[in-house]
Amino acid sequence: MGCLFCRSEEKLTNEHVFPAFMGGELEVRNGSCERCNRDFGVSEAAVKDATTPLLNLLQIGNRYDVVPNAQLRAQIRGLDLKNLPAFMDGDGNINLRDVVRESTSEDGRKLRQGFFLTKEAGDRFVERARAKGIEVLEREVPREIVIEADYTITVHFVASLHARRLAAKIALVAIALEYGTEFALTPEFDELRAARTAESPENLPVRFFANAGLMSAYIHTPHQHSVMCYLSAGMRKGWVLVTLFGGISYLVNVTKNYTEKKSRQFSIFYDADAKKQFTPVVLADEMTLIGHVLSPATKFEDPTAVHEQLSPILNEYCAQKGVIVEPITGS
Ligand SMILES: [Zn+2]
Repeated sequence: MGCLFCRSEEKLTNEHVFPAFMGGELEVRNGSCERCNRDFGVSEAAVKDATTPLLNLLQIGNRYDVVPNAQLRAQIRGLDLKNLPAFMDGDGNINLRDVVRESTSEDGRKLRQGFFLTKEAGDRFVERARAKGIEVLEREVPREIVIEADYTITVHFVASLHARRLAAKIALVAIALEYGTEFALTPEFDELRAARTAESPENLPVRFFANAGLMSAYIHTPHQHSVMCYLSAGMRKGWVLVTLFGGISYLVNVTKNYTEKKSRQFSIFYDADAKKQFTPVVLADEMTLIGHVLSPATKFEDPTAVHEQLSPILNEYCAQKGVIVEPITGS
């Protein structure tokens, strides 16, 4: 068997259904060659960058169980220092950094403001300033400090070429996992294979969408990644719904040339927290749900609709964790 994307039989490596950075551990043995893996690696890196705050919030670890740090804007309650550089580590702790800022006071004097985590670093700053004859005002940090910090999660990446290439890849690898590499290598799925080298979203049979019927068919949580596939013998077409983080959905037209006499359908539900498959109660089968998505009820290519689809899922999770969510509108 060759690589799922280029059919090469050299330097084959195991291929993830859902990328490892989003907690994926399901693999197709020898599913892709080194070159294709590298090509898709570019897209994975781009989507990983765009989803870092989300991965951090959801505590989703990569293949080494490392949860990425998320950059934050922090301030200390009672101190006049805003936008301190900080990051949230994988354990949910806020880490501040030393910072020195220059500004000009209202009467035109140059000011340097320093914030230091240790007394030693603060003393060094003061010493150097005094040595230069600069007036120094030391302010005590309150004994008990309350750090307020926030980060922003956006879904703008859903429309990107990289995210669409990943959705196409997930669809094909899922078909290979379910029905075997030989089946996934049939020419029926060649358009999907082209995702590896696609340079523009128009060249991909992938659209993102929001659909209430899909959302209400089972309980969605932000740790769920899923694939629902329906290959129709009657229509000779095939579709896969790829849903990431419970609420970011893509419709992938996997084939326009399905030649088998029997229709096929399957689903894969994956929990990125437990890192294993699970079986939810789904109120309709794949054919029915994909029918819903193909109906006029669906909002395609609408980032706001995807935001509205994902928000309640994230809000529910945040409410349980005591994280305060404030929607940012107009962006
Ligand atoms: Zn290849």
